[in-house]
Amino acid sequence: MIISLIGVSGSGKGTQAEMLKDNFLSISGGRILRDMYLQSSQEGIDLYNNYWGKGEWVPDNIISKLVLSKVNFQIENILFDAFPRTLAQAITLDNFLKDNGRDLSYVFEFNIKKEIVLERIKNREKTELRSDDKSFSTIQKRILSYYDNISMIRDYYKERLVLIDASNSKEVIFRNILSIINNET
Ligand code: AMP
Repeated sequence: MIISLIGVSGSGKGTQAEMLKDNFLSISGGRILRDMYLQSSQEGIDLYNNYWGKGEWVPDNIISKLVLSKVNFQIENILFDAFPRTLAQAITLDNFLKDNGRDLSYVFEFNIKKEIVLERIKNREKTELRSDDKSFSTIQKRILSYYDNISMIRDYYKERLVLIDASNSKEVIFRNILSIINNET
């Protein structure tokens, strides 16, 4: 099964991706970008300076190429963490999967109040190496970009979209996701 977890930064989707990682190949555009930056590749540094280090999203064609290059179709269960974020990425993903005889079963959208998200990100800054969380203006830019795109994503996925109440505990959310996945398989 192929699924995607989407939600505003700090909504807890990364935590669920981590909890699901024994059963899914988990692919995160943000992690790919951070790895490229930490490995000091020129492309990684350029992408940091031009986009994500400033709180801006990486252009669709670049992020799609990076994320899709990590897909391994030998693996049955694949999870995209925070991909797609735009309609263009959603269409690229569907086409890529279709060309390979696969499809995306569910997109889990993590819903959460903006205030809770901002609080969580503030705490994350203290515990993780996330230089892109350092200033509130970069955080706010990311959150606004998310809200600019989410209605198009919802319209596109229709019945494939599953709304998750992200104010629940991580255990409750995990059980919700598992029950939907297990009913399908
Ligand atoms: P994340 O770890 O998901 O919070 O991603 C960190 C940063 O990487 C984001 O703020 C974006 O700049 C960039 N990024 C990650 N995934 C995407 C995506 N699907 N589309 C555009 N930019 C992305």
